[in-house]
Amino acid sequence: MIPIIYCPSAAVVDGRILHSPGFLVDAYGHIQHLDNVDALRAEFPEAAVVKLTGEMLLPGTVNGHNHGFQVLLRGMGEDREFMDWRSGVLYPVSERLTKEEIYESARLAYWDMLRHGITAVADFFYLNDQGSDNALAIARAARDVGIRLLLARTFYDWEGAPRRYRESPQAAHDNTLELAKRLKEEKLDTWVTLHIAPHSPHGASRPMVEAAVSTQKELNTYLHIHVAEGKYERSTMLTRHQKTPIQWCYANGALGPKSLAIHAVWADEDDLAILQESGTSVVHNPASNMILGDGIAPVIDMLRRKIPVLLGTDGGCTNDRHSIFDDMRMAALLQKVHMTDSSVIDAGTVFLMGTRVGSRALGLNGGRLLPGEPFDAVSVRLDDPSLLPGPVTLGHVVYAMADTAIQSVWVGGERVIHQGEPVRFDPGPIVQWARSWQGAR
Ligand SMILES: [Zn+2]
Repeated sequence: MIPIIYCPSAAVVDGRILHSPGFLVDAYGHIQHLDNVDALRAEFPEAAVVKLTGEMLLPGTVNGHNHGFQVLLRGMGEDREFMDWRSGVLYPVSERLTKEEIYESARLAYWDMLRHGITAVADFFYLNDQGSDNALAIARAARDVGIRLLLARTFYDWEGAPRRYRESPQAAHDNTLELAKRLKEEKLDTWVTLHIAPHSPHGASRPMVEAAVSTQKELNTYLHIHVAEGKYERSTMLTRHQKTPIQWCYANGALGPKSLAIHAVWADEDDLAILQESGTSVVHNPASNMILGDGIAPVIDMLRRKIPVLLGTDGGCTNDRHSIFDDMRMAALLQKVHMTDSSVIDAGTVFLMGTRVGSRALGLNGGRLLPGEPFDAVSVRLDDPSLLPGPVTLGHVVYAMADTAIQSVWVGGERVIHQGEPVRFDPGPIVQWARSWQGAR
C-alpha cells in the first residue's frame, strides 16, 4: 500500500466534529498525521488522495461480546422463555453444526457486523469438540471477511450442556495452547487474538475456572466470563456457594484488569466495588438483555465508579441485530427510562463505550481517529435522511443515524466495505448458503 490522504467533509475526533480534516494513512494502515488537507499534500506529494466529499469519518465500532454461529438461530426462538429457548433451539442446533457450517455462519455474522460499522469483534466461541478445528474455522472466516477477531476460546464443563461444548480442565488448557500454535502457523494471528473464556459460574466448575485463569496467565492474554446475567444465577450461587456470582468469580481469580465481565446485570453495591477494585471491565449488552428479559444492568453506578463499560451485541439471535451504533442508542435509552432522567447519560458517553473504551478493554489499539492508531474507520453519508438536518452532532450519530448512512468501512487501512458492499469476498455464495441452511433446518 502507498500512503493515502483521506479527505472527508467531517470527522469525529476525540468526541468533537472536525470539518474538512485530512488523515495521512501510512503504508502499514496507521494514521500518521491529522492536519489540514493542503498541508498534508504539500508535505507528502507522493501520497494518493482519496476524497470523501459529503461523508463523515467515525472510528470503527467494537463489539465486545458475540457468538457468531448464533446468527443461524434468527427467527427460531423469538419470544420464548430463556430455558425453553436454550433447550429447545440453541442446544439441538448447535449439536449438529458441521465445521463448514460454523465457518459459513461466522462469515455471515461478520459480514453483517462489518456493514454495520463494526471493525473488531470478540467471539465467545464454545463449539470446540474437544479440539481446535472449529475455532480455526472462525479465525479463517474473520480473515476472509476482513474483521479483527478476539477469539474468546471457551472453557466449559457443565454436564447439562451438549457434549461438544464440554472438556476436562486439562484438555481445555492443552487444546487452547494447540490453538495458539496453529493460529501462528497459519499466520492468522495478524487478524486474530486469542482470549480465554471460562463460560460462566454455571457453565464452568471451579477447577475449570482455575485452569482458564492459569492458561490466561500462561498466554498473557485476556479473560471473558458471563456473569450475573439472569436472576436465577444469583439465587442459585447464593444457595450453593453463599456467594454472589461476581464474588465467586473474584474468589476464583477470574476478575482483574485483563478480565471482562459479560452482562453483570444482577450486581449489587458490593459486587460493583469488587469490579471497581479489581479493575475489571464490563461488557454491557443492552438489546440482548432486553430481548431475553434479563433485567437492567446498573450502568450509571458502574460509570460513577469509573468501571470501564463497553458494548456488545451478544449473539445474532438475542439482539437480533449486529450493530454497535444501535446498541449505543439502546444503552442510552435503557438507562434514561430506568433512572427516569433523560440527562443521566449522554451521546458522547455511549459513543465512547462503543469505540475507544471497547478497544482498550480488549487490549486493542484504535477506537479513535488519532495519529499512531490503526485506520479502523467508518464513513457515513451526510445526506442520508436520518442525518438531516445538520450540522451533524454525536447526538445525530447515536440517536438518529440509520445503517443506510454507512458507506465505507476500513480495517487496518484496508477498505473492506465500499458503498455498502464487501470488498474481500463475493457475498453471493454466503446468501445462497444461508438460504440452503434455512431450507434444511
Ligand atoms: Zn454470551
